[in-house]
Amino acid sequence: MKYVSTRGQAPELEFEEALLTGLARDGGLYVPASWPRMTQEEIAGFAGKSYIEVAEAVMMPFVDGAIAPADLRAMLQEAYASFGHQAVTPLRQMGDNDWILELFHGPTLAFKDVAMQILARLFDHALKGKGRRLTIVGATSGDTGSAAIEAFRGRDAIDIFILHPKGRVSEVQRRQMTTVLDANVHNIAVEGSFDDCQALVKAMFNDMSFRDEIGLAGVNSINWGRVMAQIVYYFTSAVALGGPARSISYSVPTGNFGDIFAGYVAREMGLPIEKLLVATNVNDILARALNTGRYDVGTVTPTISPSMDIQVSSNFERLLFDVCDRDGAAVERMMQQLQQSGGFGIKEDALAKARACFSADRADETETAAMIQKAQDEMGELIDPHTAVGLSVAAKHRGDPSIPMVTLSTAHPAKFPAAVEAACGVTPGLPARMADLFEREERLDECANDLHAIEGFIRARSRATAA
Ligand SMILES: *Cc1c(COP(=O)(O)O)cnc(C)c1O
Repeated sequence: MKYVSTRGQAPELEFEEALLTGLARDGGLYVPASWPRMTQEEIAGFAGKSYIEVAEAVMMPFVDGAIAPADLRAMLQEAYASFGHQAVTPLRQMGDNDWILELFHGPTLAFKDVAMQILARLFDHALKGKGRRLTIVGATSGDTGSAAIEAFRGRDAIDIFILHPKGRVSEVQRRQMTTVLDANVHNIAVEGSFDDCQALVKAMFNDMSFRDEIGLAGVNSINWGRVMAQIVYYFTSAVALGGPARSISYSVPTGNFGDIFAGYVAREMGLPIEKLLVATNVNDILARALNTGRYDVGTVTPTISPSMDIQVSSNFERLLFDVCDRDGAAVERMMQQLQQSGGFGIKEDALAKARACFSADRADETETAAMIQKAQDEMGELIDPHTAVGLSVAAKHRGDPSIPMVTLSTAHPAKFPAAVEAACGVTPGLPARMADLFEREERLDECANDLHAIEGFIRARSRATAA
């Protein structure tokens, strides 16, 4: 499989180069040159198969020519052995035909682990025997950072630097990052918002000499490997609920549009998905974009679902590329307008294509808290605020009750204990393996929101620059 940039200018790459490159050199994102299709019989054949078996079948077309099936299988087995549930991503029934898909059984209790655990192994596989060193730099609103650090800690050929917005991640999130003391792990608290952190990382990728000097690689959801790994659980859950003989709808708590874009890819591959609901908190740029046709950046408002406190949603570019008939020049123009004036309009026909598959809405803070309380009172389930946003939007857009509605449950409630307790009066406990998190030693550095200063910090510590 070849990979092309959403802006049409960067060279086509093979899978492993696209993986290690992250952001394309023209500023675009890599996507497969075409979507592999699966027949309804192939999808029906997933019934009764394990998560690993389905993952291998779903991912193989994307890595074809780069990774042997036996190697992929071994990496998948290792990656998901760290999960605390046999099914990896189990479904739980929440109503007559309403479900949550629990994506938080990995080592850092958020869905980011599902992709990151396999991504680290894919990186290792790509670097093996090449004597090459990489420096991973990523921005996090809380969950990506801890998942990445956990997956990449202690790896020989990789240093990892994670930027988080100072004071804007939960204490559990911060400690999951800063208590990992491996020498190749560096945490930077930036004076600013998540969007500032993400803009700094993008600027580093666009600084070609810095990029080459440190062997910069990215693991944010712009990395195709992340999206690829997330396609799998749409297949496992749909088949468990009677697909492909029936259609399924999904409500996806959305920030950077990575998780839900994986659902779009599953649909393009042939999985009968009726509707994908883009569920946002009050930082609702995506809901506004799909409902009005204008993508206009506002200011970020901190919420109790901080992993979605985002105004610039990177992966949306991948959807724009597809619904603009893969016209890289058109995407480039929209992104230039975004840069220059903070917004752009989406063409009517492109918007119509997006709306055929996506609906979008937001849940405000009151609705989110009310849903946490409702789940506790009516079902005895503790849910996290991001999941609550998803359930709230699912309830508003329920549609045909005979179609199963699956809300992606993106984090364990113990990751956001203060918000959960405030909403329903119950404090979720950390799983036993993390019970001492608050006693562990922390290590982090603080930095101004200044590209030059942060590049200097990274240059001084990356082992790639010593080579
Ligand atoms: C990252 C994250 C999201 C948003 O996912 P995207 O792929 O960025 O849209 C939602 N919920 C939680 C808990 C997250 O960590």
